[in-house]
Amino acid sequence: MNTGSPVPFVDPRTIVLLTGVMGGLMAIVLYFLQRNYPPSVKGLRYWTAGTATLFAAGLTAATRGLTPDLLSITLANLLVFSGVYLQLVGSEHFFGQKPRYWPRYRLIGMLVLVSGWFTIVEPQYLPRLMISIFVMSWLFSAHALLILRHGGRSFAYRFTLFVLVCALLSQVMRFATAWFLPTGTGILDTTPQNLIYIISYPFLMLLLAISLVLMATDRVRAEFEHLASHDSLTNALTRRNLTDVCQQELERCKRHGRTMSILLIDIDHFKSVNDNFGHQAGDRVLVQFVSAVTTLLRRADAIGRLGGEEFVVVLPETPTEVALIVAERIRAKVRELDDPARFTVSIGVATNRPGTDSVDALMARADRAMYQAKEQGRDQVVLG
Ligand code: GH3
Ligand code: MG
Ligand code: MG
Repeated sequence: MNTGSPVPFVDPRTIVLLTGVMGGLMAIVLYFLQRNYPPSVKGLRYWTAGTATLFAAGLTAATRGLTPDLLSITLANLLVFSGVYLQLVGSEHFFGQKPRYWPRYRLIGMLVLVSGWFTIVEPQYLPRLMISIFVMSWLFSAHALLILRHGGRSFAYRFTLFVLVCALLSQVMRFATAWFLPTGTGILDTTPQNLIYIISYPFLMLLLAISLVLMATDRVRAEFEHLASHDSLTNALTRRNLTDVCQQELERCKRHGRTMSILLIDIDHFKSVNDNFGHQAGDRVLVQFVSAVTTLLRRADAIGRLGGEEFVVVLPETPTEVALIVAERIRAKVRELDDPARFTVSIGVATNRPGTDSVDALMARADRAMYQAKEQGRDQVVLG
């Protein structure tokens, strides 16, 4: 029988508890990602810890009225802030930063102490609310800025940014409404102000945890794509990828009547580098060669490894005269490299013939020119 107090539309305690439970489930997902994803995906440990901390926060906050306020309010506050903070720190690690953990955490700890004062010594909800809004807004905006600065253009980053901006907006709304809507005496009071927040909070926390999973997955995809398209020793494109790039560029040239050139580069007497200095020195020469050439190329250019010590450079929008200059620069730069195993290169240059060239034909011409360079004494550039 109803004894007077109206049945609330939503029960905040249940929502807080369920939010906690969802955090727990997402922490399990993140934990398994952390165990199974390559260690190059940084930050997963912090994301897992942060999300698990939010789980603990939900359970603790849900005991309001059943356990001392120090536990259900102050400890719950500390746990929520710590969880959100750990998620931010996880993202900082994810983007390769080495964040300092304690200075910011000390500030959070101090604010929790002040909030604790307003719980135990002088119970007042408004200062506690303001502290909570301040900490959460700070952490969400720092997180959003981080993603904005370092996240790429893929869906995972845009989605994460969207969720964080929504989370920030929910805090702004909480702040704005605190001045004209009743705030109640704590998070579990069914005031409209609390309800707006309490209903959006579980969704935001769940979506944020999903965003973290999406970002980690996106990173793994990007790493696999890189592995599949790049030579593991030199980081040049693989033969297949290089052929694709060349094919695309040739088709573009055919469509728009443009000019492109390729350079086929072979290291001279490479076998004797291996014989005289060892196979490792040979590997080092290959790596050095590619990084030296890369510094001379534009963004649109590409270098790929055909195999062994043979490389191809694709130069879009490049007529023969310019390709010859680039080739000459590469030849000169290789001679200047400061390596005990001094080495030189022979370069064959070929420019596309409008409308008729295939990748094979272009490569064959560059290859013939390169062999001519070898025959003429090596360490030179020949046009095919
Ligand atoms: P040339 O001036 O006529 O080009 O002579 P070369 O010695 O450079 O050419 P050759 O084709 O006779 O030898 C290529 C050598 O490259 C043989 C092979 O052992 C070595 N090689 C191929 N791939 C690698 C690699 O990944 N690392 C190392 N260290 N050596 C490699
Ligand atoms: Mg060679
Ligand atoms: Mg060769």
